[in-house]
Amino acid sequence: MSIPYVIQKGDTYLRICLRYGVHLQSLLNLNPHLRTNEYAIPGHLIHIPQRPPNVYLVQQQDTFYEIASRFRVPAQWLANANPTVNPRQLTPGQSLIIPYWTDERDVRREAEYGPVQLFNDMNGLIDRYPFLKQEQIGTSVLGKPIMAIGIGNGPVRIHANGAVHANEWITSALLMEFLEQYAAHYENCRSWRGFDAHAAYERTTLWLVPMVNPDGVELVQEGVPDRTHYADPLSDWNWYGEDYRLWKANIRGVDLNDQFPAHWEEERDRRSIMNPAPLNYGGEAPLTEPEAIALADFIDREPHFDLALSFHTQGQEIYWNYRDYEPEESERWAKLLEQASGYRAVKLFGSDAGFKDWFIQKYRKPGFTVEVGYGVNPLPLDQFERMSVEVTSILKAALSGLQEG
Ligand SMILES: [Zn+2]
Repeated sequence: MSIPYVIQKGDTYLRICLRYGVHLQSLLNLNPHLRTNEYAIPGHLIHIPQRPPNVYLVQQQDTFYEIASRFRVPAQWLANANPTVNPRQLTPGQSLIIPYWTDERDVRREAEYGPVQLFNDMNGLIDRYPFLKQEQIGTSVLGKPIMAIGIGNGPVRIHANGAVHANEWITSALLMEFLEQYAAHYENCRSWRGFDAHAAYERTTLWLVPMVNPDGVELVQEGVPDRTHYADPLSDWNWYGEDYRLWKANIRGVDLNDQFPAHWEEERDRRSIMNPAPLNYGGEAPLTEPEAIALADFIDREPHFDLALSFHTQGQEIYWNYRDYEPEESERWAKLLEQASGYRAVKLFGSDAGFKDWFIQKYRKPGFTVEVGYGVNPLPLDQFERMSVEVTSILKAALSGLQEG
């Protein structure tokens, strides 16, 4: 049994699988012409395997709402799947169809997490945890919002960003995963494996910009957007043919982590890439790209941040210095983050114009580039749990602060 389906704009094979609750391999078995290293093409017809219905037999003491929450299905969705059942009059032995349900939290770990998924995820978290603060800090080249989301009431201000590089989009999902856990533990006043969420909330304010480069992320995940005038130049700029999975830059082929005014000219001369490219082209001048400008303007606001972390993939390393601009405490911070995560703190030379470089040079505060996970970008989603543990330990340490002595 299968369902015919016409591929829509915004679909990827993993997103379709997640929406219908099927495995990628069963989709491929049913559609042998599909190639997972090619983009899903809107308008093409595919066949989706049909899931056998999941049936539950009502037990003594069960209530409709308990069953819904046990299977993580919205009660209304459960009611729709069982139109003849009266939710107030369940009888033991009665069968209920448990419909398949998924939301943006599942996308984080099971499919490509892009700008649309982030936007929905943020709105879901804001509804669920009204103490979170949300703000649009800018707009990408193609008009997508660049969003910031904040948690905490304290005087110590901490910033973390993700997906500056397009094919490192998993960092966006990892930051949102941390945020949700933090919010849930704060709300429930529970200790989170030794981390006092309440104390952190009162001591710090954390502002995340989970996806600095939304156009680039979408390009990596979905291929060239039609109906933009970047469609033609992109195919000239891309070194890898029609495959954009190795793309790091924004949609204009500018590497946002080579855009910051921190010895920018030296980085340009070192890279010697003078045209738009998938990576390492820093633009015609520092801060020409709206995504880099949005981030810099956000960081430049007062009160300033005391510490900043920029999440990239991959390498399980933490870069903590910049020339000799970093404050003395940076090294102690690097050791703390190293201990917390098991990553290696590395003193890096011969690199300029990155976000971390600019933050350290301008504010003389601790700034870090964290290279999450290990392997080839984009990292596979089966590493998500492990990377999530590592990112969580780094952010918990950042929010807990350096201990004296
Ligand atoms: Zn990167």
